[in-house]
Amino acid sequence: MSMQQRACKICHAITEQEICPKCQVQTGKNWHGYVVIFDPERSKVANKMNIKVPGKYALKVR
Ligand SMILES: [Zn+2]
Repeated sequence: MSMQQRACKICHAITEQEICPKCQVQTGKNWHGYVVIFDPERSKVANKMNIKVPGKYALKVR
């Protein structure tokens, strides 16, 4: 488990980068819960969160 995981406020992707590589916005450390999406097209959660790319995503980002 990494100590400094951050999450993007726009796409909710969890990353260690300070800037989301996809959205080019500042990521934050204030996030709660996460889901791992393997198959976005078949995942209800991914659909609801508008996730198109497999990966780890924060449920709530402030
Ligand atoms: Zn993002």
